[in-house]
Amino acid sequence: MSATQKYDLVVIGSGPGGQKAAIAAAKLGKSVAVVERGLMLGGVCVNTGTIPSKTLREAVVYLTGMSQRELYGASYRVKDKITPADLLARTQHVIGKETDVVRSQLMRNRIELYVGHARFVDAHTIDVDEPNRAERVTISGRHIVIATGTKPARPVGVEFDENRVLDSDGILDLKTIPGSMVVVGAGVIGIEYASMFAALGTKVTVVEKRANMLEFCDPEIIEALKFHLRDLAVTFRFGEEVTAVDVGSAGTITTLASGKQIPAETVMYSAGRQGQTEHLDLPKAGLEADNRGRILVDDNYRTKVDHIYAVGDVIGFPALAATSMDQGRLAAYHAFGEPCKGMTELQPIGIYSIPEVSYVGATEIDLTREAVPYEVGVSRYRELARGQIAGDSYGMLKLLVSTDDLRILGVHIFGTNATEMVHIGQAVMGCHGSVEYFVDAVFNFPTFSEAYKVAALDVMNKLRALSKFRS
Ligand SMILES: Cc1cc2nc3c(=O)[nH]c(=O)nc-3n(C[C@H](O)[C@H](O)[C@H](O)COP(=O)(O)OP(=O)(O)OC[C@H]3O[C@@H](n4cnc5c(N)ncnc54)[C@H](O)[C@@H]3O)c2cc1C
Repeated sequence: MSATQKYDLVVIGSGPGGQKAAIAAAKLGKSVAVVERGLMLGGVCVNTGTIPSKTLREAVVYLTGMSQRELYGASYRVKDKITPADLLARTQHVIGKETDVVRSQLMRNRIELYVGHARFVDAHTIDVDEPNRAERVTISGRHIVIATGTKPARPVGVEFDENRVLDSDGILDLKTIPGSMVVVGAGVIGIEYASMFAALGTKVTVVEKRANMLEFCDPEIIEALKFHLRDLAVTFRFGEEVTAVDVGSAGTITTLASGKQIPAETVMYSAGRQGQTEHLDLPKAGLEADNRGRILVDDNYRTKVDHIYAVGDVIGFPALAATSMDQGRLAAYHAFGEPCKGMTELQPIGIYSIPEVSYVGATEIDLTREAVPYEVGVSRYRELARGQIAGDSYGMLKLLVSTDDLRILGVHIFGTNATEMVHIGQAVMGCHGSVEYFVDAVFNFPTFSEAYKVAALDVMNKLRALSKFRS
């Protein structure tokens, strides 16, 4: 066995959390190693999660011609018979480019990359196991960041065959576009894939045991999304539980507790995710995971062992690439005593359904529950010149504004560019701006951003009516 190489920081996992922890430490002049299993550089984010799903969505929207149908008619298509190969060509291209960007960033910052499976030997020492390498490699870190992410949870009793019964990893290897599909679980990933397949013409049934979906979002916007998905022939079965999935030679039958049976060519499970901690030998480092494989951390992302941190999906909510990156950076800063502000409270949520949903700040439900008086301003894309030009007549933006001091309390957007547009509201909220900023600001014309001004004027008109009727 070769001598143990020593580092200031060893990071396990090269997803967004691990990458940013490694780069932040390297920028502080520390020696850093990242351990990643073969073929997964960039993590779930680059290889099986965020990047492939968002690229697939882009390919679906482009090739189906969906976003242009208001202008060119319901039969408009860029390509008539879309195959998985059409979709995956774009996905593979982007994954290749993104992996290269990650590799180059690690190299530029002189971060050592070890390929193999990491497991703890003790609280500072890690064994890197790569079956194709004759020699065992052991490295040690003054500090360690665990950023091993998650994998799809597979319910007991369901036989995943990577052909008819799949999860969000398997969906990327589909050989044909199914004519029908059951999506089990109406969380973000389930709804994103349901809308992609619905856009491709697949008859989708979404089964969800809760009474509704995406309940953390604005209910009016989720109603609009459900209306659109139903228009694409999606059937929702809320308050229903799957009891069995039977696979035959022609397809599957999904049986629900209510007795209903749903025939479909393919079933996609999107039933939560499980932390990838089971092969880390955590007890050797004095750590343990909970029953969902998650590691408990404090506000500085430190585990109960002082020099070991955990970031990203492996620590649970909110389990987003966006937040994982910042957690990684903050963990590295804390480990090396670099002063920093903690994680900002104002975090946007983006759902890449078709159409998109995005929001930042409070919902009407939050404000009503907390008895915070507010007024709502709405702008509809069909009344914006850019909405007409782009062929988006359904999009909308809602501003929630405090009637006490006119501060923006929440921004909720549905439609084209929602996930980009939300950052305008986020910036104003982050600077404690009021709705008057949007009333006074001049926006480029014609743009979707103009929706902020229209919604702000709507709020001010409602408030004016309030004071008029009061007098
Ligand atoms: C289908 C899907 C769509 C998504 N869409 C979005 C989105 O639109 N926006 C968004 O913000 N987030 C999205 N996410 C979530 C996002 O992908 C994750 O939040 C993010 O990837 C988590 O980053 P991470 O740093 O925790 O590590 P991950 O990206 O999960 O990567 C962890 C890495 O650790 C490696 N690893 C694990 N164990 C070991 C070990 N013992 N030794 C060595 N290496 C190990 C794994 O191989 C993996 O590469 C999506 C996720 C999925 C599944």
